[in-house]
Amino acid sequence: MEFPITNLRDRANCSQWIIEHFHPNGFGCQNCGAGVEPTRKFRTTRRSQLTVYRCRQCNQTYNLYSGTLFGRCIMEG
Ligand SMILES: [Zn+2]
Repeated sequence: MEFPITNLRDRANCSQWIIEHFHPNGFGCQNCGAGVEPTRKFRTTRRSQLTVYRCRQCNQTYNLYSGTLFGRCIMEG
């Protein structure tokens, strides 16, 4: 898999790219697999402006990068 590094500089493009490549079947809870649609936004981290979701089925909190190899690398950016 090639990483389009230039696109990752743009936060909006980055988010879209992450979803397309790491959540091809739909972004959702990493624990029970529930979709993100019925999930409420839990909070947004102050530093990275990253939206954190809380699953309504299992109360697991997760974000766009949960389960990806990027982890906090981009979050810290
Ligand atoms: Zn869940």
